[in-house]
Amino acid sequence: MADDAALDALYQEIILDHYRRPRNFRELPNASCSADGRNPNCGDALTVWLRFDGDRVAEVTFQGVGCAISKASASLMTQAVKGRTRAEAAEIFDTVHRLVTGNDVDADTTKALGQLRALGGVSKFPMRVKCASLAWHALKSAMEGEAPEVAVHTGAP
Ligand code: ZN
Repeated sequence: MADDAALDALYQEIILDHYRRPRNFRELPNASCSADGRNPNCGDALTVWLRFDGDRVAEVTFQGVGCAISKASASLMTQAVKGRTRAEAAEIFDTVHRLVTGNDVDADTTKALGQLRALGGVSKFPMRVKCASLAWHALKSAMEGEAPEVAVHTGAP
């Protein structure tokens, strides 16, 4: 299983890199919408801001406090959805959600995820799934203009 170990190490490196140097880590004063996400289990709390240009995500940023997984996931999320349409962003949300909750994602889709694949490792750690999905739920909530604050509840993800 040497390949698995190497892959785990690579994924860990991506997570740590995004935790230490989170991308798009700032407020967005001219945002179209935003949402707060909280994960009381772990103490993660973050805000996601979005600015749309027509149907496209022109800018997406976040700020907050949290564990390495929650911050890295948010950082990866901002990179992944920037420049995408609402529909594309929603599709990425669904794929990542399937990935972190340990559901099947076909090989081509997995490949297209790029660095987001690093989040798949959390599916083995149920407590971490909520950390990894927090920013994504905030993204979805902001896009759909629903409640301005989402909480990831205890129990099954
Ligand atoms: Zn966390």
